[in-house]
Amino acid sequence: MGDKMKAVVMRGPNDFGVEMVDIPKPKRNEVLVKIGAVAICGSDPKLFKGDYMGINWPPYFPFIPGHEFAGEVVELGEGVTDLKVGDRVAGEAHCGCGVCENCRRGLYNLCLNYGKVEAGHRHYGFTYQGAYAQYNAYNVRALTKMPDNVSFDEGSMVDTGGTALQAIRLNGITPGGFSLVIGPGPIGLFVMMIAKAMGSKTIVVGRRERLQFAKKLGADYIVDYEKCDDIVAEVRKITGGLGVDEAFECAGTQNAMLQTVRCTKKNGKVAIVSLPSQDEYNLPIKTMVMNQITVHGSRANPNCSKDVLALISENRINAKDLITHTFSIDDIHKALDTFVNRIDGAMKVVIHP
Ligand SMILES: [Zn+2]
Ligand SMILES: [Zn+2]
Repeated sequence: MGDKMKAVVMRGPNDFGVEMVDIPKPKRNEVLVKIGAVAICGSDPKLFKGDYMGINWPPYFPFIPGHEFAGEVVELGEGVTDLKVGDRVAGEAHCGCGVCENCRRGLYNLCLNYGKVEAGHRHYGFTYQGAYAQYNAYNVRALTKMPDNVSFDEGSMVDTGGTALQAIRLNGITPGGFSLVIGPGPIGLFVMMIAKAMGSKTIVVGRRERLQFAKKLGADYIVDYEKCDDIVAEVRKITGGLGVDEAFECAGTQNAMLQTVRCTKKNGKVAIVSLPSQDEYNLPIKTMVMNQITVHGSRANPNCSKDVLALISENRINAKDLITHTFSIDDIHKALDTFVNRIDGAMKVVIHP
């Protein structure tokens, strides 16, 4: 290993490419990870475009994005006892400061020192250097050892799968009941697969190839919103008139938010899992009150990686088939184009640095 590596370096909005940069040195409680696979997240193309400059993603240039990764530990920083060289690990984006009230409660996705590098907080790929590179140094708290039968490609799905699992934990799942997913993108499909593994009958609302993808991965019912005048009536029909026990909004649209609440049965639960592009949307408050419906906002994936890896390792969910395309790091522009424009039915696109 020399001291330089390839990385996708962002120099400004819409200005990025592969460059040779220094390999980072692992500091105390960090390890150097040789990145085996890094998946493109729905937020990455927006970040590259500069859409998140208003919330300081990234906070400086030059910057290396990327946060859905798996790889191999190749060097240990000082004080590392739980990992060794050669360990295969899956990563997550959020690493809390470890000492604030929320971190102490395990809610490191809501760290009160968010963005404060000096306090130890890292949001890899957003506020701190990320994984579109051959190597990156990570705090051990952001890494989870992978079972031997889980590949790096599958490991790069753990951040997305964890985001689905966190929403499921907030809502709960009723075994033998019904769950609804609106928006069969990668997170929605993981929600569907995990809910099904937990004994729920699953209904997925979407359209075209992505809806067929949901069917292929095991959705019990699919509803095409382009061919259905009344989604709420259709979902009520499937559920014997009552509505679903739990609903998951994974589309980020106004319609989807209204429909998730209206499709949910009395005393049911709704999770908004998408990252909406604006702050204000309408919700059917009267329905929420009269039907006593709980709506959760769900952010990221705290404490989910180990369980998602177990679900993948034991074949209870299928992470592999979500990966439709792989590219070398040199083809980052083509990879992003394939992902954004859903070329050839692209679902998850993975980079091999
Ligand atoms: Zn992501
Ligand atoms: Zn914290």
